[in-house]
Amino acid sequence: MQSQVKASVMEAIGETPVVRLGRLFRGANVVAKLEYMNPGGSIKDRMVRHMLRQRPADTTHVVESSSGNTGAALAMASAVLGLRCDVTVPRTTSTEKVRRIAAYGAEVHLCDPDDYHAAAERLVDEHGAHYLDQYCTPLNREAHYRDTGPELWRQLAGELDVFVCGVGSGGTISGIGRYLKEQNPRVRVIGVEPLHSSYRKLVTDAPADGSFSTVVEGVGKRQPSQSFDPSVVDDVVQVKDADALDWCRRLAREEGILAGGSSGCVAAGIAALLPKLQGQRIATVFPDSGAFYLSKYF
Ligand code: PMP
Repeated sequence: MQSQVKASVMEAIGETPVVRLGRLFRGANVVAKLEYMNPGGSIKDRMVRHMLRQRPADTTHVVESSSGNTGAALAMASAVLGLRCDVTVPRTTSTEKVRRIAAYGAEVHLCDPDDYHAAAERLVDEHGAHYLDQYCTPLNREAHYRDTGPELWRQLAGELDVFVCGVGSGGTISGIGRYLKEQNPRVRVIGVEPLHSSYRKLVTDAPADGSFSTVVEGVGKRQPSQSFDPSVVDDVVQVKDADALDWCRRLAREEGILAGGSSGCVAAGIAALLPKLQGQRIATVFPDSGAFYLSKYF
């Protein structure tokens, strides 16, 4: 018998289950990787772990701007590694997410939604701290290329035709998408975002169509992020907020999967795509838990 004890929660990141959505998508072949089963509660644990492995050796203080999950992942890792941690979040972030970051002992700065990245940069300049900068660093998509992508491919035993993925920073879809296409160039990669977000225009030359705002946390951007790699994404579909939240509730009630609004968004996107994807094997990831949005969506 070999001990299975982990040295810390950092080693409990990953190896999340892949589950068939057989009740919501009856007769179709749709599976989801449940990333809310990571110890920090989201897929961002993987990215933060990868980024911190590459941090400068003299780092004692880390800063990030985050809609919540990256902040929680960084706060969790900072607790384990003994780092000081400051996180700037937009004021619109759910109370549960803000408290979750603070619970790990990090300092949370509530900012104007147009200023939370600049606020992080000011903190970095002021304290000489290390900035993770998920919207710009190549380490974001590299984490998913090296870790999440290979893990998903192995769990599916390579049985996959279409990878559908919500897009926020774009790191997840770009990293996993690139890895999957390298294994099988016939795999199609389709992004899902809220209505009027900016990635569809980037990939499909769709005309500009109104101003962007969403209640679905984690997906959609007014301006595309540098972490998004349009060369691996074949198409992007857009979903109304009401449909995202409807599918989020259905995931809980019909599949027993309590996932966040971005998972509802991607499930709604898959539902819209299904008529065109008959007989295809579809996989997605559900980035975080519905437990973080009980007062907001449920
Ligand atoms: N869903 C949630 C809940 C998230 O926090 C994020 C990260 N912003 C995403 C989806 C999108 O992931 P990515 O940033 O890798 O595009």
